[in-house]
Amino acid sequence: MDNKTEVTAEDMSLVEKCDYETKLAVTAWVMKNIVKHAEEGGSFRYLIYTRLGFNPDAYVTLYEAGGMTISNEFDLQLKDHLIEIVKENNYEKMKPHLGLCDEPSCYNEISCGWPTLDGGYRNTCGTHYVKDASKA
Ligand SMILES: [Zn+2]
Repeated sequence: MDNKTEVTAEDMSLVEKCDYETKLAVTAWVMKNIVKHAEEGGSFRYLIYTRLGFNPDAYVTLYEAGGMTISNEFDLQLKDHLIEIVKENNYEKMKPHLGLCDEPSCYNEISCGWPTLDGGYRNTCGTHYVKDASKA
């Protein structure tokens, strides 16, 4: 091993040396590549070596920083897949957990929350929003 400083996820000293614009540029670049990874898929090694351009010496540092968790768990299509399953099987009880309209048989995403005259509260899509709750 050469005399390079060992970089860890807990040591912020190198990050604190960066000026604001550098931190912003690096963070934006990392976020863009992580989202691309989530959209296109791939292994943790593909993320850190191919997308982010690191060498094998970066494996432990990026693993300990949570990179494996991001690579394994971040799935932008997961919610859409779950909504399709809920819709196909009419799982009304799952709708609140996925942020779907509380109107029976409606699977649009919630865009409004409003109190009802009986003291309740509804979460609906724009189509099922009732401006004047006295008509609900
Ligand atoms: Zn609706």
